[in-house]
Amino acid sequence: MKRTLAQLAEMCGGTLSDLAAYGAVHVEGVFTDSRKPVEGSLFIPLVGERFDGHEFVQACLEKGAAGALWQKDHGDAPQGGGVIVVDDTLTALQTLASAYLAESKTSVVGITGSNGKTTTKDIVDAILSTTFKVHKTQGNFNNHIGLPLTVLSMEQDTEIVILEMGMSGRREIEALSLIAQPDIAIITNIGESHLLQLGSRLEIARAKAEIAAGMKPGGLLIYNGDEPLIKQVLAEAETKQPEGLERFTFGLQTDNDDYPTGLMNAQNGVVFTTKQSGEQALTLPLLGTHNVVNCLAALAVARHFGVKAEQIASGLSQLKLTGMRIEVLQGVSGLTMLNDAYNASPTSMKAAIDVLDGLKGYRSKVAVLGDMLELGPQEKELHHGIGEYITPAKMDLVLTYGPLSANIAEGAKLHMPAEAVHSFENKEEMTRYLLENLHSRDVVLFKASRGMKLEDVVESLKIAP
Ligand code: ATP
Ligand code: MG
Repeated sequence: MKRTLAQLAEMCGGTLSDLAAYGAVHVEGVFTDSRKPVEGSLFIPLVGERFDGHEFVQACLEKGAAGALWQKDHGDAPQGGGVIVVDDTLTALQTLASAYLAESKTSVVGITGSNGKTTTKDIVDAILSTTFKVHKTQGNFNNHIGLPLTVLSMEQDTEIVILEMGMSGRREIEALSLIAQPDIAIITNIGESHLLQLGSRLEIARAKAEIAAGMKPGGLLIYNGDEPLIKQVLAEAETKQPEGLERFTFGLQTDNDDYPTGLMNAQNGVVFTTKQSGEQALTLPLLGTHNVVNCLAALAVARHFGVKAEQIASGLSQLKLTGMRIEVLQGVSGLTMLNDAYNASPTSMKAAIDVLDGLKGYRSKVAVLGDMLELGPQEKELHHGIGEYITPAKMDLVLTYGPLSANIAEGAKLHMPAEAVHSFENKEEMTRYLLENLHSRDVVLFKASRGMKLEDVVESLKIAP
């Protein structure tokens, strides 16, 4: 970004303490982490539960920050630097991001949904980057702080910015959508993540549909048409939507605007055709039908921006995912490992089991499944249901890790022989079991909620690259 302190003060509705002295100071970006002061950037002190950034304003100015924001209720602003006084620093950060977008010609793609946001974002980015200058959310920086910081870190001549929008309650996606005002928005799906906070899948659907609230008039909403709840909540009077909103549905069902017409597993990926793409086969270097569905949403964005078929193919071939999303790794003794330990909910757990189901050519197929957290009062039933979903046709061995997953083991015993189901409370013990019982030509899937840190087990079985 290239702005002066005076301009930034105006953009965020603040007052620069000494306009004459500091108004013309150039600012190249913003930062909120005082441990990484950036010369020539504006420090935004946020008030957190444990830390208050205001304690570090003076030090940042001394270390060469171009200036800093200062929240009014924190007393007198420090002297000796360009300080912009605002009512609330977090609101100012968000207002600044909105203003920066409004002054730019950048198109905004917003992505929400229970599962597949980061994956879809990575696919959209891979395809659009063949043709446009694209900026995207790094990692999982998808909340009320990460989103505005993502916007403010984009270069002025960015043509398209792709923003992941996450939430843990109602009105959060709405706030993000109002900041970003997407031209295009995607709702990947509705799952059970955050069931604890929201209470029901219907309420989760309402929270995701909030992405329409800030969309530009005439914008394009791309959503999963296999999920009836999305359609239902979009028809509710309380769901805010812009005028002239266009809609496009994707999914596996043939009543969607786009769906796969043919699908074949290939080496570490899928080859498929879609209704919209016609005869032309697409190669997605990711495992899982769920990733084909994510790709359909990305293809709709690509078509909207007029990306050519050969660029789409070349973008897909260069796709690199953020880690631990069905990452294929080589393990000790010739083992193949599918590391999906990034996170888990019932929907994504089933999708991962389907991936294992679809694999061919392995001696045995093994699933290591850990607890899914934050599911609320139905947690035991939801775990049991995952177990019931497992059959000998899909896999040969199930290991569970954690107290809730013991319910997966119980459910699995309905269809699986008892000797093919084992529960563990201890990662070392489970690792030892895997080392003693697995062979080359076996494939092992790892999946659990973030909090279970199942990647520890993956690490102990991985061979150094
Ligand atoms: P978060 O809310 O943590 O940011 P996310 O929505 O960004 O998650 P990803 O990181 O893309 O989701 O994927 C997380 C996991 O969800 C993947 O490892 C995969 O198992 C599963 N997943 C991805 N896409 C889908 C989908 N369309 N349907 C079901 N499960 C999916
Ligand atoms: Mg994510």
